[in-house]
Amino acid sequence: MPISSQLLEVRKRIDNVCAQAGRSPASVTLLAVSKTFPAEAVIEAVQAGQRAFGENYVQEGVDKILALRAWAQVRPEAPVLQWHCIGPLQSNKTRLVAEHFDWVHSVDRLKIAQRLSEQRPPHLPPLQVCLQVNIDGGPTKSGVPPEDVLALACEVARLPRLVLRGLMTIPEPSPDTEAALAVHRRTRELFERLNTSAVLPAPLDTLSMGMSADLEAAVLAGSTMVRVGTAIFGRR
Ligand SMILES: *Cc1c(COP(=O)(O)O)cnc(C)c1O
Repeated sequence: MPISSQLLEVRKRIDNVCAQAGRSPASVTLLAVSKTFPAEAVIEAVQAGQRAFGENYVQEGVDKILALRAWAQVRPEAPVLQWHCIGPLQSNKTRLVAEHFDWVHSVDRLKIAQRLSEQRPPHLPPLQVCLQVNIDGGPTKSGVPPEDVLALACEVARLPRLVLRGLMTIPEPSPDTEAALAVHRRTRELFERLNTSAVLPAPLDTLSMGMSADLEAAVLAGSTMVRVGTAIFGRR
């Protein structure tokens, strides 16, 4: 199926579950995860109205950001795109991220956040940040343990060139919707606890959770941003 049709299908899924949850579809942002797919696929999605894209691998993401910028330069009508870094972050990659991306979802330690803040170029708006939380204790996964989130959030929120927006999770695949819902609800509760703790300078407004397989459960639990790859671009 063409990317435009897949996008329509995914937006329909979001609309349906929003109706079920009594939420406005505008309260859920669709992030198209274009990792491993070429710039041409991103262009197809842009032409179908998609504006926000997620990339896992920093260099691959930067290459696509530059390719899309070149594409837009000769098209005065081209829309502004938003680029989100959602993959694991090593110290040696923070500069590229700070210089090219609009958002980072995968911050899970202070050192990485400090580097991103220091390296964010002054001519760009602050980098928008989510803390990745290891909500289900997956042993091999990145992400800050839930009990350490508040302390990290307080420190990250103070960094001058970052804006702390929320939390991101990548739970293990769940056997069914009920199980997925339970995990996503734990993230939602953590998010609410941070917002009622009154120690952050501004309330968090972003819950980045839900992918192709579990976006319904995530939206039912309160996700504000779903990250969808396979259901839009196909199998990797
Ligand atoms: C690949 C990836 C996605 C998209 O996953 P799909 O199952 O293809 O929708 C979302 N978030 C992260 C962090 C990813 O790495």
